[in-house]
Amino acid sequence: MIEKRRKLPHGRFIIASHNDGKIKEINALVSPFDIEAVSAKKIGLNDPEETGKTFAENAIIKARAAADASNLPALGDDSGLEVAALGGAPGIYSARWAGEPRDFDFAMKKIEAQLIECGASDLSARFVCTLCLAWPEGAEEVFEGEVTGTLTFPPRGDNGFGYDPIFIPDGYDITFGEMAPDATHAMSHRANAFRKLMKSCLDSD
Ligand code: IMP
Repeated sequence: MIEKRRKLPHGRFIIASHNDGKIKEINALVSPFDIEAVSAKKIGLNDPEETGKTFAENAIIKARAAADASNLPALGDDSGLEVAALGGAPGIYSARWAGEPRDFDFAMKKIEAQLIECGASDLSARFVCTLCLAWPEGAEEVFEGEVTGTLTFPPRGDNGFGYDPIFIPDGYDITFGEMAPDATHAMSHRANAFRKLMKSCLDSD
């Protein structure tokens, strides 16, 4: 028997994020289903502290806080880069490795330095994105997407953000930083996770 997950109802749902780019990207995906994504900022919610030990725990913390505060379904996400030779670091600490204010040139140099220090020859890595859809009554659904690839140094390309300039996705010879943004978005870990969510929780059939 195929498990039927709970469907997202028509109307508004909250994105547990203050990032306008993310809200715009998600609205483009859900608007054909008569659903509107509203940012946590718009309804005056603060970001909860990311105290989880996994991407899924952090996504659940964000989604649950927004669903409880708004009494609407809410979507939380967490993402990052896992480097195999560094035991999965920076992982859930991907943003924090860049310090405050965020400096990803510094974070990419830190990865390179640690790879040199441990004499790693394996440069494989993956971007991971976990999405959590939480309902105000208490249920939660979690979806994970990934894109696998290889790291390269020095960083190449000015497109994208974060660790994009050192990440070459499998099957390509250019970094996400060198790739056209539409091509990156179509194959990204976020898009993969979102496809799973849409298949399960939106009336797409
Ligand atoms: P958060 O999911 O908003 O907490 O961000 C996690 C961090 O992971 C970001 O600040 C980036 O450093 C990194 N990251 C996540 N997704 C990507 C991506 O698609 N490209 C580059 N870096 C990413």
